[in-house]
Amino acid sequence: MIVDTHAHLNTEEYQSDMIEVLESARTNHVDQIIVIGMDKATNEIAIKLAQTHEMLFATVGVHPGYVDHETTDHLESLITNEKVVAIGECGIDLHWRQDNYNLQKTIFLEQIELAKKYKLPLVIHTRSSFEEAYQCLLPYKGLVTGVFHCFSSNLLDAKRAVELGFYIGIDGPITFKKAADLVEIVENIDLKHILVETDSPYLAPMPFRGKRNEPAYTKYVVEKIAEIKKISVEEVMNQTTENAYHLFKLGGITS
Ligand SMILES: [Zn+2]
Repeated sequence: MIVDTHAHLNTEEYQSDMIEVLESARTNHVDQIIVIGMDKATNEIAIKLAQTHEMLFATVGVHPGYVDHETTDHLESLITNEKVVAIGECGIDLHWRQDNYNLQKTIFLEQIELAKKYKLPLVIHTRSSFEEAYQCLLPYKGLVTGVFHCFSSNLLDAKRAVELGFYIGIDGPITFKKAADLVEIVENIDLKHILVETDSPYLAPMPFRGKRNEPAYTKYVVEKIAEIKKISVEEVMNQTTENAYHLFKLGGITS
C-alpha cells in the first residue's frame, strides 16, 4: 500500500474523471490520498471530496502564491473537520515573487501558530526559500512538525529539516534526468524521514513528464527510491506508509 501525501484533486483537472483517477490509484496500490488545499475555495472542495470518498483526506491552508487575495480568517472553521489532517499548503515562495515577502511570511507564521494550537502537522511549500521558511520554524522546534513537500534544496538543508523534526517530501522530479541533488538526498536521508507524493496535477514523473499527473503515479516515485537506496519496493511502500500514518494520523492511528 502507498499513500500519496500531496495531490491537488480539488482542481479543475479532475472534474470529469475523478472516479477513474481514484480507481487507477487503487489499481496501483495507492489506497489513500491527501488532497491539499491552497485557498478558501480549494480548501472547501478538499473537505467535500474527503467526505465523499473514504480513501481521501484533506488539508486546509493558504498557499504563498495566494496571499494577495486570501487571508487565514476562514481556516479555524474548517480545521476541526474530522477529515482534515494538516495545515497547508503554506510557506514561502521567492521564485515567483519577492515583492510581497513580508506578507507571505506573516501568513505563514499565522499558520504555524494554528498548527501549534490544533496540534496538526504543516505541509510546507518552499521555492528558493528554504532558509526563510526554516528561520520561521526554528523558534517552534519541538512544538510543530510536518513535511517540506516537494523538497528542492540540497542535502545539507534536508538534514536540517530532519533535525527540526520534519519529513522530506519526494515526488516526480526524482525520476528526471537532472536530479543529482535529490538522488543524493534520497541516498543519505533515512527512509524513516521520507514521504512520497505526486503534487498532482503538476510534476508528473517519467515516463509521463509534461502530462497531467495523478496519484497512481506515486508508484514511479516509490520504485525510483527503491532503486536509489538498493532496497525492495515493498520496503519503501511499508516505511513511507508508516511515516504518513505517523505524521498525519490517518485512520486515527496515533503511534
Ligand atoms: Zn502542492
